[in-house]
Amino acid sequence: MKNERKLILNIKKQILGIATIHIIEMIGVLDFESNQFFKEAIVELLGENAGDIILNGNKLVKLDEIGLGTLHFIQNQCWSFNGKLYLTLFSHLIDNFKELGIETFFQFQNSDEEALTLIKKEKGIEITEDEKKFPTIIICPNCGQKMKVGKPAFFRCPKCKKIIKVDKDIKATIVKQNA
Ligand SMILES: [Zn+2]
Repeated sequence: MKNERKLILNIKKQILGIATIHIIEMIGVLDFESNQFFKEAIVELLGENAGDIILNGNKLVKLDEIGLGTLHFIQNQCWSFNGKLYLTLFSHLIDNFKELGIETFFQFQNSDEEALTLIKKEKGIEITEDEKKFPTIIICPNCGQKMKVGKPAFFRCPKCKKIIKVDKDIKATIVKQNA
């Protein structure tokens, strides 16, 4: 069990058409102790309509050579399901491996959104005009506070605490709350 505690995986699913993309935040250490747990967890996720994986390394504090070999293994697994592996926010981990030419082995992206956009392009899924509008800055209709929003959803204004609904046309409205 100790291996599982060394590495925590925070797994989210994104459905694009018939495809399922797993976005996995890695927290902890990927090394000789945790790699077996990691491999098994990932292989379990892969399937006919789920070959693409985005691994977010932002909270990964250590990656050793065995961990790197594991990423290579995962990439091969993705390929066998006609998918791809995307590594986002790994820049703090790859310096040690630069001389290996690591940039040519893997797809490195600066954010999960960037990787998702690439996957959409690869799968021929159109990026809608609505998606192009975000992220954006909206102004709270109640108090005028500016805030950054990444998608159409409900947000709480950090200043006046009102709940604000932002729709796909970037229209912001105050949500009436029960007293
Ligand atoms: Zn406000």
